[in-house]
Amino acid sequence: MSLTIREESRHIPLESEADVAVVGGGTAGVMAAVGAAREGAHTCLIERCGSVGGMLSTGLMGHFGNKYRSGDGRELVMGPPRDILECLVASGATPYNTLNEALSEDLSIYYRHEHAARECFRMLDEANVELWLHAYFARAVSAPGAGYDLFFECKGGRRAIRARQVVDCTGEADVASSLGAAMQEDKTLRYSWGLIFEMGWVDLPRYEGFLKTCPASCPEWDAWLADRLGMTLEELGEDRYWREWLDGCQRAWPFRPQIMRAVEAGAFDLVRRLPEGGMIRYGWDGFAPEPWHGVDAVTANVCMVTGLDPSNPRHVTIAETAARKYAYDFLLFLRKYLPGFEKAVIRTMSGQTVPRGEREIVGESRLAPEDYSGKHIREDSICIVGSSGMGLPLGMFVPQGIPNLLVAGRCADQGYSVRGSVCCMAAGFSCGIIAALAARLGVTPMQVKRDEWRSALTRHGVLLAPGTAVPGFVPSDTRSASRGLTPDRADGLERAGKLS
Ligand SMILES: Cc1cc2nc3c(=O)[nH]c(=O)nc-3n(C[C@H](O)[C@H](O)[C@H](O)COP(=O)(O)OP(=O)(O)OC[C@H]3O[C@@H](n4cnc5c(N)ncnc54)[C@H](O)[C@@H]3O)c2cc1C
Repeated sequence: MSLTIREESRHIPLESEADVAVVGGGTAGVMAAVGAAREGAHTCLIERCGSVGGMLSTGLMGHFGNKYRSGDGRELVMGPPRDILECLVASGATPYNTLNEALSEDLSIYYRHEHAARECFRMLDEANVELWLHAYFARAVSAPGAGYDLFFECKGGRRAIRARQVVDCTGEADVASSLGAAMQEDKTLRYSWGLIFEMGWVDLPRYEGFLKTCPASCPEWDAWLADRLGMTLEELGEDRYWREWLDGCQRAWPFRPQIMRAVEAGAFDLVRRLPEGGMIRYGWDGFAPEPWHGVDAVTANVCMVTGLDPSNPRHVTIAETAARKYAYDFLLFLRKYLPGFEKAVIRTMSGQTVPRGEREIVGESRLAPEDYSGKHIREDSICIVGSSGMGLPLGMFVPQGIPNLLVAGRCADQGYSVRGSVCCMAAGFSCGIIAALAARLGVTPMQVKRDEWRSALTRHGVLLAPGTAVPGFVPSDTRSASRGLTPDRADGLERAGKLS
């Protein structure tokens, strides 16, 4: 048993009494706060960083997975989650000339992350949200009557906010966990963490020229990799990370011969073992020249940590330290082995190494396998997402047995399966509106009548069934000629698509 010490009880300044408090000002949290405030609730937002937007901004994601429309072009997500894209396009923070051009993108819609933070701040300000930055949520306890007292640490010490309804958007279910909510089976080992960074001073034409010389196949690679890792080929094929590296796999690095040479020379570690059972390796998730970010820019999402628990503070420190060191070592490898990277530098790096998934609550209801097809939209859907246009039921955001709390973002029940940024924004916005209704009516979110919340969501622009086709949308095979990008931009996106 670990040692404990007792802290004296003390009186904590009560900073605010809110109708709705949102904890975590990231992708889902900003939208939840805007939704609650637009529905008339006095809303507080508590964020541990010095900026808002989470993965959208400080996480350096730089592109929305395009879930704004279904695969066949029907609009799914409207309201503030789409307004943010529209503002990014209008302010020249994307490579697109018009919103519809962005919405027509196949997989990812590119933008500058710093500008996303600016749009988030603007929306919060316009909605009159009471914002608390550098405020680290620590604990929730039931308040007298209903609702919760939320304690957080900030400059000047511990503070509290009392709220009738709370939306937990920490990405890690910190509030729900503090209140003892049941969580799904431990998936700590299944999910990976990522640290995104952007490099500059890359000679992209030179790199491009080099890529053309890379052979499509590297036949000795698979056996060599198995040997270096001490695994069999069958084990490699079954491993959900390593199998992405195998020869012929769509995501295999084009420069495998260079990796082999660097590993043999001790200049590249395929994997590093970390304390406490952790591991870091270069992931396949993204390594993309994006010339529209700058004619010398490459974004890398290649530091992949596994085997550590994001809710364990020691593990968090191990993951952060290892990922940052790995990023710099990756740069050294690129400089030495890849033409075009000789003078590359790391220009900017995410403020956090972020788990792709973590704790997930046990919700009042779950997505059934048939829901993913989008063929039948449930009546209890609070938003429509995904390429199939599926509905997300209110119950997946309601932790069993914990009243007056909604959990939005990647820590909702099955949150990992709908963790794309647009899905998180859409669900966050709807949860904020429903929390505000519950606060006004003095009931729990599940007790708000369905007709009532459906009509409120619709009033705020939320689609509860797929809408009409995005104007000008054309199927992908005929799109590139018509999307109106300048040759440079089109070229950059083309390459990014191939390599990420
Ligand atoms: C490395 C990586 C790459 C990804 N790439 C893509 C991509 O290319 N496209 C895409 O669509 N999706 C991508 N995703 C998925 C998507 O970005 C996330 O699933 C989504 O943004 C999660 O939203 P969220 O609101 O749950 O979490 P976040 O956006 O991470 O927000 C959580 C917020 O809560 C704050 N917080 C946490 N704990 C506390 C606390 N105790 N007190 C106060 N504040 C707290 C955090 O600082 C943060 O601001 C990626 C995810 C990761 C991790």
